[in-house]
Amino acid sequence: MSNVEVRPEELECAAAPPTSDLEVLEPRDVPLGGPRAMTVRRTLPQRRRSLIGAWCFADHYGPDDVSETGGMDVPPHPHTGLQTVSWLFTGEIEHRDSLGTHALVRPGELNLMTGGLGIAHSEVSTPATTVLHGAQLWVALPDAHRRAPMAFQHYRPEPVLLAGAAVAVFLGSLAGQTSPVETFTPLLGAELVLEAGARLELALDSGFEHGVLADTEGVGVQGTSLGRGAMGYLPTGRTTVTLTNRAPTPARALLLGGPPFEEDIVMWWNFVGRSHEDVVQAREDWMSHSERFGEVLGYAGEVRHLPAPVIPPVRIRPRGNPPH
Ligand code: MN
Repeated sequence: MSNVEVRPEELECAAAPPTSDLEVLEPRDVPLGGPRAMTVRRTLPQRRRSLIGAWCFADHYGPDDVSETGGMDVPPHPHTGLQTVSWLFTGEIEHRDSLGTHALVRPGELNLMTGGLGIAHSEVSTPATTVLHGAQLWVALPDAHRRAPMAFQHYRPEPVLLAGAAVAVFLGSLAGQTSPVETFTPLLGAELVLEAGARLELALDSGFEHGVLADTEGVGVQGTSLGRGAMGYLPTGRTTVTLTNRAPTPARALLLGGPPFEEDIVMWWNFVGRSHEDVVQAREDWMSHSERFGEVLGYAGEVRHLPAPVIPPVRIRPRGNPPH
C-alpha cells in the first residue's frame, strides 16, 4: 500500500518522548531562623506528596561554611510519633536526648532516634566542624507503634563497591546488603556515590515506592537530571531503577523507600499524631514540662527547653498521599 496523497508533506516524526513514571519533587528553601541560621532545602512534606513509604520529612542542607552560618545549635525540643535519622556527609553533630544518650553524629553513620510517645533532644555541631552538610529525615510510626518507648540506635554500614558506584545501606536491603537495624514498617535508606559518568541499575522491591534525594548536581534518575536537593519520586511497581552521573566529578544521592504508608497523619511542628487533638495535647505536655518527654541533660546553651510555637487557630488537617 502506498500513500495516495498527490503532494505529500514532509513530516518530522520525533520518537515518542521517553515514558517515565518519575515525578520530580522540587525543594523549597526554608530558613530555619532562630539560633540555627541555616537554610534547608525541604522536599517532604509538600502539597502533592506528604510521604514516601513512612518517610514523612526530608530536609537537605549544606555544604555550609560554619563560620558564616554559625553551624547548628538546636536546643532541647520534643518529638512524638516518629523516628529521626540524622545523616551527615560532612561535619559532626553532638546529640543529647532525654533517654540519656550522648552521641556524636558522623558522616556515613546512621543515628536513629525513636520518639513514639515522646522524646526530647538537642543537636549542636561540634567546634571541630568547619563545613556542615547532611540530611534530616523523619519516619512516621504506624498506629500500632506510635507510642513506642524512647530508643536510640547507631549503625555504620560498610559501603559496598559496585561497578562505578559505592552503596551504603543504612536501613532495609539493597544490592545484596541488609541493615540489621529493625524498623516499625519496611523501609529502605541508602547512600549512593556514583563515579563520573557512571550508570547504575539497581533492583528494587516492587512493593515499595522510592525517592532519590540528590545531594549533588549530576544525579540522573531514569534519564531525568535532578537539581541539587531535589527528590525524584518513583511509585510502586518498579523492579529496577537506573541512576546516572553526567557530571565530571562524583555525584551523591540518598535512596529512600517503603511500602505506601496507609494511614493519614497530622504533622505539626515536631509532632506526628493522628488528629488535631493529638498535637494539641503533645504541645501542652511539652510546655508544662510533663514527664512524657523527659529531660535532656548536658546541653550547654541558654535555652534549655525550646518553646513550642502557637498552634494555628484552625484545625490541623490530616495528610496522606493522593491515591496512586
Ligand atoms: Mn529534632
